[in-house]
Amino acid sequence: MDDSEELRETLVVMRQQVEQLRTEATHANLLLSALDAMLETDAGDDPFTPVFAILTPIFECHCILVLNERNQTPGSLECVATNRRALLGTLWPVGKLLAKALSGHVVSTLSGSGIEAWPDGVMDKLSRNQPALYLPIAVHGSHGVMLLLRDVDQPGFDRTHAALARKFSLLASHALAARRANLATRESHRLRNLTAKLKASQEALLYRANHDQLTGLPNRTHIREQINVRLANKSPGGVLALAYVDIDGFKHINDMHGHAVGDALLMEVARRIQAELRSADLLGRISGDEFIIAFDPVDERADLARFVQRIQSRVQLPMPIENAEVHPSISIGVAFYPEHGLDYETLRRHADLAMYRVKSGMKGGVSFFTHDLGRNASQKLIVERRIKHAIDAREFHCALQRKVNIRNGAIVGFEALARWVDADGVAHEPSTFLSIAAKLDLLDDITEHVVTDLLRHLPALDAKFGSHLRYSVNISAAQAMNIPFMLKLLRRISHAERHGRFTLEITEESFASSGPFLTHILPTLRACDISVSLDDFGAGYSSLAKLSELIVDEIKLDRSLVASIHQRPRSQVILRAVESLGATLNIPIVAEGIETNAENDYFLEHTGIAIGQGFLYHKPQLLRGLLQRT
Ligand code: C2E
Ligand code: MG
Ligand code: MG
Repeated sequence: MDDSEELRETLVVMRQQVEQLRTEATHANLLLSALDAMLETDAGDDPFTPVFAILTPIFECHCILVLNERNQTPGSLECVATNRRALLGTLWPVGKLLAKALSGHVVSTLSGSGIEAWPDGVMDKLSRNQPALYLPIAVHGSHGVMLLLRDVDQPGFDRTHAALARKFSLLASHALAARRANLATRESHRLRNLTAKLKASQEALLYRANHDQLTGLPNRTHIREQINVRLANKSPGGVLALAYVDIDGFKHINDMHGHAVGDALLMEVARRIQAELRSADLLGRISGDEFIIAFDPVDERADLARFVQRIQSRVQLPMPIENAEVHPSISIGVAFYPEHGLDYETLRRHADLAMYRVKSGMKGGVSFFTHDLGRNASQKLIVERRIKHAIDAREFHCALQRKVNIRNGAIVGFEALARWVDADGVAHEPSTFLSIAAKLDLLDDITEHVVTDLLRHLPALDAKFGSHLRYSVNISAAQAMNIPFMLKLLRRISHAERHGRFTLEITEESFASSGPFLTHILPTLRACDISVSLDDFGAGYSSLAKLSELIVDEIKLDRSLVASIHQRPRSQVILRAVESLGATLNIPIVAEGIETNAENDYFLEHTGIAIGQGFLYHKPQLLRGLLQRT
């Protein structure tokens, strides 16, 4: 061989080597992407699927099986991954060949040789004459073998493939181990995330259980717990003040402007109160419009009065609502630890009582609990609870009292009066429940029951007394100015067939020029042909001068003016003035509370008054009784 020939041969070999290197490089790259793919598969996916796709062209094989040791059946391998579905799960007894591969050797052979017993059901899918390459591999943390098979007519695997396979087996084992580790960290991450989420939801649940959703303040149970903890840790001589806060007229605002406005008001009031508290003080919302404040600590009562005053003035700042402005106000009752109670419940009850004292006097004020208040009020609390229960149990009914023409004795109408008939059948008069019900915002429910009772019995009443009679229903001033309440009431009674048959008895305060009664309600009443009667005229603050401005259809003289009229010249003078005014304005007058013949005679003989109402004629009677007897 001459030099040039030698050189040519060397070149050919070099070219072959370069070519081989290039192929190896390509193969190596392909293998790396196979490993990448294997690492990127999700926990639930089979990591071998992408690997098979890459190995098949590199090794020019058509069938790949991954066999893995199984703990349950030592001495055999299970096919845990393959591109031949039918072979999945087949069991391979570990003979010499598989043992060699398991111990870390790459074995290139014909499929049949060296495997003592092919597993059942494999023979019909595989042939013993397929070129086969066995590579050791770590699978799922244990030893395994990857088996690559070519078709029968293909050449056997050469050394290049065997070397490539060895590299691959090494890399694949590492990759799988890394993937496992990766999975473990991912799993622990996932677990940690899950735990964090669980903890967060647990905290959210706890938060929800302890806080009011609207204002975010501690709720009834939580504030009780918080305050009881504070009380338990109080050092001797330490004082805490517990304030019971109630928003004045909240129900009215809620009814008048709707729940969204009510909610906004609650949130704003909570915010304003909170803004005035010290960082150690506590604020909680215990029900609809009621809040609890714990002023802790309190050094001097005078300090507390100042805190409370600051809160009240801040709350009272105007608050824009819809197109108007409301001036929220709150009533506050305060009880002191340890003087008025040693635990939350007692303090709350006492502060509540003090708050009610404010409500019954000047709303928007503050009152401090005294033990006297406690003694008087426990009775009242019992009544309150009973009234609430009575409303739920529908124990309020309508009693009727006749209005008569005192000149001829004819019945001209009836006044509907509320009666609370308790479970024992005892009928209680309004003086026992009306003012408390009004304070509790329950009067509307009572009126509702009375009207329902009356309307239900109207056909029977008409049948008995004639359908020409008028019926009067009493409405408190607060109700008269409550537009939603009044509209609802009017809708109920202004049925076409009842036109001209209903009168609303209201008191002078309802006509307050700033209230909506004159502007909104009265025109609607007129439109529905419902009359207005001015009740209790002559009691308290009635003003003769004002009478001429009021647009009413009837004036009812208060019983205080009627009682013993024949013996009271001063009352007689007032009566004469009212009468002449009524005559001028053409407004009929009703004398209410006529109890004696002497009083009745006075009206007959000395006045022109035609209509009277009183025990002399008729005592109010529950509908049931009235309809039974004559
Ligand atoms: P009022 O509207 O002035 O009703 C007249 C009251 O005088 C009734 O008392 C009636 O029983 C009583 N009365 C009638 N004739 C005589 C008499 O000859 N002698 C005496 N001593 N009393 C007489 P009642 O039923 O206790 O009602 C008291 C007040 O309660 C009513 O005064 C009215 O302002 C209010 N009221 C009654 N029912 C309702 C109601 O359904 N809603 C509202 N908002 N207030 C009601
Ligand atoms: Mg009345
Ligand atoms: Mg009256």
